[in-house]
Amino acid sequence: MEHRPAVIIIDMLNDFVTGKLAAKRAEHIIPNLKRLIEEARKHDVPVIYSNDAHYPQDVEVTRKWGSHAVKGTKGAEVIPELQPLAKDYIVEKRTYSGFYETGLDPLLRSLYKGEGAKTVILGGLHTNICIRHTAADAFFRGYNIIIAKDGVEAFTQEDHEQGLKYLEYVYNAKIMTVDEIIREFK
Ligand code: ZN
Repeated sequence: MEHRPAVIIIDMLNDFVTGKLAAKRAEHIIPNLKRLIEEARKHDVPVIYSNDAHYPQDVEVTRKWGSHAVKGTKGAEVIPELQPLAKDYIVEKRTYSGFYETGLDPLLRSLYKGEGAKTVILGGLHTNICIRHTAADAFFRGYNIIIAKDGVEAFTQEDHEQGLKYLEYVYNAKIMTVDEIIREFK
């Protein structure tokens, strides 16, 4: 595929959907993400899970959100509906950006027989926090960015809408529905 896409599913973890930092709004994106992930696998588009896996001393825990998605706990596991398969990739992170001091960039560069992914398709949580910071780092590294607009959510509608606008304006992200994205896999 010319765009050499990779799907990155961010923080679809128990703590963000049903646990410590649960957002009711997170639930309606689950079937859309399930469709995105399944179609990606079918078309050999790599699927990467970018998951919070915190230590209790992480700044995000101590200065802002309190304990959540602690490494090794149930809360830090991907929700049952979107379980990774053996051929998927899992990259743990300890702050908002999936790139910050993680192996995500080398992984992306190793895909497509070493040609590297060119486009990242982002889904998950939250539009204005981890999606935004991961998009920023993807932009700085030269990746094209697609946001699955019905596959991302935030704590409020306002946060979600402003988040999408910001992603489009600042990182030139393409805002597309899951169905539009899937059509491009074919
Ligand atoms: Zn976190």
